[in-house]
Amino acid sequence: MYDTAIIGGGLAGVATALRLQARGLATIVFEAHGQPGGCAGFYRRRGFSFDVGATTLVDFGSDGVGGELLESVGIPSIEGEVLPGYVAWLPDRTVRLFREPAAWSRERLEAFGDTAGHRSLWRLLDRLAEVFWRASRRGIKLPIRGVADVVRAARAVGPAGWPLTRYLHWTVADALRANGLSDDRPLRGLLAMIIQDTVHGTVAEAPLINAALGITIRGAGLTRARGGMRGFWKHLIARYRQLGGELRVGCPVDRVDGSRGAYRVVARRGVVEADQVVAAVPASLAARFGPGPVAEALAPYLRRDAGDLGGAAVVFLGVPDAEVSCQAFTHHQFLENHDRPLGDGNNMFISVSAAGDRESAPSGYRAVMISTHCELGAWEGLTPETYATRKRELGTRLVTLARRIYPELGRDAVVFEVASPRTYERFTGRPRGAVGGVRQTVTNSNQRAVPHDIGVPGYWLAGDGTWPGLGTVACCLGSRLVAEGVLAGARRRPRIPRALGASHAAISVR
Ligand SMILES: Cc1cc2nc3c(=O)[nH]c(=O)nc-3n(C[C@H](O)[C@H](O)[C@H](O)COP(=O)(O)OP(=O)(O)OC[C@H]3O[C@@H](n4cnc5c(N)ncnc54)[C@H](O)[C@@H]3O)c2cc1C
Repeated sequence: MYDTAIIGGGLAGVATALRLQARGLATIVFEAHGQPGGCAGFYRRRGFSFDVGATTLVDFGSDGVGGELLESVGIPSIEGEVLPGYVAWLPDRTVRLFREPAAWSRERLEAFGDTAGHRSLWRLLDRLAEVFWRASRRGIKLPIRGVADVVRAARAVGPAGWPLTRYLHWTVADALRANGLSDDRPLRGLLAMIIQDTVHGTVAEAPLINAALGITIRGAGLTRARGGMRGFWKHLIARYRQLGGELRVGCPVDRVDGSRGAYRVVARRGVVEADQVVAAVPASLAARFGPGPVAEALAPYLRRDAGDLGGAAVVFLGVPDAEVSCQAFTHHQFLENHDRPLGDGNNMFISVSAAGDRESAPSGYRAVMISTHCELGAWEGLTPETYATRKRELGTRLVTLARRIYPELGRDAVVFEVASPRTYERFTGRPRGAVGGVRQTVTNSNQRAVPHDIGVPGYWLAGDGTWPGLGTVACCLGSRLVAEGVLAGARRRPRIPRALGASHAAISVR
């Protein structure tokens, strides 16, 4: 009998398991794929290690949301490249999105204009980011379900931030309009790219506060671990095992039945009993294999969000160092055309492994990942031949576009592979291959987001489909809230988190 069974060995699942195991609970993680990682995982090919989805860890500095995770489970440090920022390539200009606030303040006024409207918009975004990043780090919990949550949220936001809650119903378009910037195409183009990448939404619909956090993720800190996600997972799993946690890979869960105190997890390699269960998979999967009340509780959310799912395609390249050494920055975001819809190359993110990172690429080579958003429908119902052709064409298109940044990219590639929504469906089990959380709007996020506690005792949800949705930072924050809930109801007394011995739990700069 385990205290907690965690279904899904992606970041949300393993982060939750680590926290619980570190507090003395007996946990087990079931992962369907042959290795953990999910959408933040990796694969190896010809000496390269490619990140299959997430390439950057967000807010893993010592006082960040990710840093708090490392510290609380006793992972002392993970080496990596703390990015100084990245470059946004717009059709008519390039903008360096510096991590350092003063450099970014100068750059944005130079790039987009130094009018009263611009200054006022940036001020608002900075203020929202300051208050709500802090609230995230303090562990704010949404949706608010009772008085305790209200008090917690009020404390996390702090009295000085309370007036900003009036922006809860604003979209990014509202903020542009209020500052007379609705027709500023370059600015709108930059915001549209970042918003699609971080909250999966659009300028017209994305909730302003969530988008402000997305727009400022560089300030919170972006890091690519040495060896990419493979390097990161090595540390996480080693620590989980050291704490006595049990990870079963290649072991999909078919069904969970029973109730609080006596859940039965029916997996490929047998049945396990657990006091509580954490489903760290997309909500649609949790509904599919969970007990009846879970499916009932999730049904309204799943109906509402069915049209707000999206996919991704990624090109993986192993290239000689010389093909990418012409740029100082290793990460770039690219917009081809303001007038075309975003996705399918028109907004792509390019991530290059750091020079000298021998865990990501053999000597003299670099690993390159180019990702773009795509519609799921475009990849469904294809014959094998059409599918292969579509993948090849998209891969060629992305590499050709990326040559605006790296003119020689891919000429002598030793690896050139393409992932599509079908790839994600196959390797992460995500229905239709939909990745990230839902495309965020004011009607499906924050107070209306899928909660971690759906009212089924001892059954919890975690992952990028639950609040706050999207990305590694959301998985870390969600895992913290879920672990708190599990610990509060644990039959075994949790250990005081002292003997973990993390001296400093930040990603160290190379
Ligand atoms: C192309 C791309 C780029 C991205 N870039 C970034 C980035 O740079 N920074 C960032 O912060 N985020 C990024 N993200 C988002 C981030 O990767 C995800 O939000 C995050 O990894 C989701 O983690 P998760 O644990 O919620 O879900 P998942 O990663 O999907 O994990 C769920 C796990 O559950 C397993 N599973 C499914 N069904 C079962 C079952 N029945 N039994 C057992 N196991 C099961 C799956 O195999 C999977 O491993 C990116 C995503 C993509 C796709």
